[in-house]
Amino acid sequence: LKYSDLPKWSLRAAEWAAEYHEGLRDCSVRAQTYPGATLDDLPHEPPEQPVGMDAIFEDFEDIVPFGMTHWQHPRFFAYFPANAAPASMIAEQLANAMSAQCMLWQTSPVATEMEQRMVDWMRQSLGLRDGFKGVIQDSASSATLCAVLTMRERALDWAGNTAGLANGPRLRIYASAETHSSVDKAVRIAGLGQDNLVKVATRADRGMDPETLARAIADDRKAGHVPAGVVLCTGGTSTGAFDPIAACIAVAKQEGLYTHVDAAWAGSAMICPEFRTHWDGVDEADSIVMNPHKWLGANFDCSIQFLADPTDQVRTLAIRPTYLESDNDDEIVNFSEWTIPLGRRFRALKLWFLFRAYGLEGLRSRIRNHVAWAELAAQKLASDDRFEIITDRRLALFTFHYNRPGQDGDIQTERLLRAINDDGRIYLTQTKVDGRYAIRFTIGQFECTKEDVEMGVAVIKELAAMLADVSG
Ligand SMILES: *Cc1c(COP(=O)(O)O)cnc(C)c1O
Repeated sequence: LKYSDLPKWSLRAAEWAAEYHEGLRDCSVRAQTYPGATLDDLPHEPPEQPVGMDAIFEDFEDIVPFGMTHWQHPRFFAYFPANAAPASMIAEQLANAMSAQCMLWQTSPVATEMEQRMVDWMRQSLGLRDGFKGVIQDSASSATLCAVLTMRERALDWAGNTAGLANGPRLRIYASAETHSSVDKAVRIAGLGQDNLVKVATRADRGMDPETLARAIADDRKAGHVPAGVVLCTGGTSTGAFDPIAACIAVAKQEGLYTHVDAAWAGSAMICPEFRTHWDGVDEADSIVMNPHKWLGANFDCSIQFLADPTDQVRTLAIRPTYLESDNDDEIVNFSEWTIPLGRRFRALKLWFLFRAYGLEGLRSRIRNHVAWAELAAQKLASDDRFEIITDRRLALFTFHYNRPGQDGDIQTERLLRAINDDGRIYLTQTKVDGRYAIRFTIGQFECTKEDVEMGVAVIKELAAMLADVSG
């Protein structure tokens, strides 16, 4: 295949994509397949001779769509969304056409400067104060790891990178039990040890209790440990918990600790001013991560980390061997010094397309609809005796339980979830809330309509009735 063949095959791929999206409502959301099915479809050995594009494309159509869970399906109510708005897909296609390594300013000046501008557009869109800088990472997990590494190096007076961690003090990181597992992973990878991630007790609303945080820090100091940083959550993954950001950051600041706010999902909602009370005080954070690739419409991957002052993170991560030096290093930014991988994709392009193709008003109206429809769905389930709302709606996420008199609610709820996902018209996933099995319902897909949500509720009720019939 030659570059001159691109128009033909790109067009074919674009036509396929349009048809795919048009037909999504008729597909089962979750893949209805079994382990090993795709392995059986693929030859064990790679081809020695080239295969024509016609055959490759045909096999793609035969094998791939059936094995996919359709994340762009309008009735994907599982996990958190991973949107890919058409404008951002087109930008990705253009970025692919150039496939540059955007690690240094000089390896693609426009990518670096567009990234600076897009990060600042996002800063303004979210209502963050002037002065935050930022970088586009692949994922929130990476951003959180960078923040935890920075916490470590600050606490060790920058000796960890050089001397290693052996014989050092026990460094302590604080987070609530509602924070994402990427925080646990970051603490492990950073060499701090899982035991040194202190899970601070939460209040009834599932936000971190600032007084308990203060006490945990004081206890650790007394025990001779070294508190290093606090990771706060704005929109936890399980139930959408919000830590009281202002109060917790106040405690952290008093103790000289570095703070990182994980708003991977909920951050996108902050383009709507009415939701910003959920992260009041965020302007005082040292680091914030939010994923435009979740709710906002930028296709994966696109995660923005804002930094009040990049100096500490760059000091933690930057290594500049001679072969990466450039002439104007004091005038420009080399974003690879802010992140873990050296190589970087041109991710700013899809944000530029996204912002312009929808405008902030277009993006806000989607999020507002999702929040309103989630409220509607929660009310419809709450008004039916068979269902119990376990955690109230937080933005566009709530959790519920299925109760049948005389039956184990956890087992029944799990059976209902299995029936829903085998049915395929909608897709939901589970969590545990205070030890109880709960179904998460979250709305966030770009093409989702109110009718899709109503159908979602109807499917839940229909399958609950069917389960009751079958098992008497
Ligand atoms: C999704 C999510 C993450 C992980 O995001 P990745 O970009 O996939 O690493 C972290 N924290 C929260 C709160 C999330 O919702």
